[in-house]
Amino acid sequence: MTITANNLRIYADYNATGLVEPSHYELVISLLKKLDGNPSSPHARGRGAKVALEQARNSVAPMVGARAQEIIFTSGATEANNLALQGAVLLGRKIIVSSAAEHPSVAETVQVARERYGADVWIVGTGHSGAIDEAELLGRCAGGAAVIVTLILANNEVGTVIDGRSVAAKIRAVNAEAHIHVDAVQALGKLDLSWVASSEIDTLSLSAHKIGAFKGVGALYVRGGTKLETVYTGGAQERNRRPGTENLPGIVSFGKRCEELLTHNPWQASTLANYRRAQNILVNGLRQIKGCQIHGEPELGLWNTVNFHIDGMGGDALLMNLDLAGVDASSGSACSTGVGRPSPVLKAMGHSDWEAGNSVRLSFGYDFDDGVAARVLEIVRKI
Ligand code: PMP
Repeated sequence: MTITANNLRIYADYNATGLVEPSHYELVISLLKKLDGNPSSPHARGRGAKVALEQARNSVAPMVGARAQEIIFTSGATEANNLALQGAVLLGRKIIVSSAAEHPSVAETVQVARERYGADVWIVGTGHSGAIDEAELLGRCAGGAAVIVTLILANNEVGTVIDGRSVAAKIRAVNAEAHIHVDAVQALGKLDLSWVASSEIDTLSLSAHKIGAFKGVGALYVRGGTKLETVYTGGAQERNRRPGTENLPGIVSFGKRCEELLTHNPWQASTLANYRRAQNILVNGLRQIKGCQIHGEPELGLWNTVNFHIDGMGGDALLMNLDLAGVDASSGSACSTGVGRPSPVLKAMGHSDWEAGNSVRLSFGYDFDDGVAARVLEIVRKI
């Protein structure tokens, strides 16, 4: 299950997107050759496509312990986050509690809910570690059915992870009617999420391309019985929640990757221990480089993510040198690369504008090991 662009370069931008293995392309393309019908058509070609669509749904669902009918395919997690949040706001929920560590697909949707629908928004702060202040969060969750709580499970920039099951249970204890939404994009495939459907979470977003499937597809888990207002109209696909002809190539790819991951089980304790050891080699080594500051507490977060800056060295220069030395990395968030503004997440963690604008994120895939960590460390040392 090695996923590398080629053997010479090190791909350290997995949080932006996972690489698609050549064998996965071949597998999906061979399946698609027999699947050119529209899943909504009643004839044999359509029925064939429909079978493939439902098979993929059956493969994605166990990733979050869900039933197939609780999985709605979307164009990605950005759309899934929008469907959940807008769908809940349009139902009349007008108090939104979120965090300063959210991805723009949640953060900006929450701001639009404030501007367009007059929602009352509270953003819970993060400490220097990147962890949300749980007491502040719970203190803001009262308000009955008017409340939406939306939180990121694993942060894409610094890798901070929350205990989603426990946090959702605590939110439910203070508000039985709140809509609890979770962005689980960066946790999928890296951590066990089979507990989700037995937790208090109502909706949860996933993205296929972060686990090495095709881009342009994702899913929204909607717990059975959860009400969401329709956001798009025009078709009955995906239980009316996401009308439009389904992206079958992407969906088939997503399903197959989930099957592969469920078989390989990279979140089993022994594999996670190996990844953590590699991360520790990198983090401890970086800490010894003069002027290098690690952001957050990577040892407590995602095993694949390390975010740092080096005093006096611009982030662009650092990234360019990494690139020249054969390491593909990026600044905090690919979605804001080129925007030229300091990362709001790092600023919320108390970093200066300079630090938040010159950080580098290394994020690894399933081939991460001690050797990769040592090679990257060596390269950074020489820059
Ligand atoms: N949430 C998080 C945490 C992400 O990292 C991303 C991808 N950058 C998204 C949502 C959006 O996912 P997609 O690219 O599938 O729209």
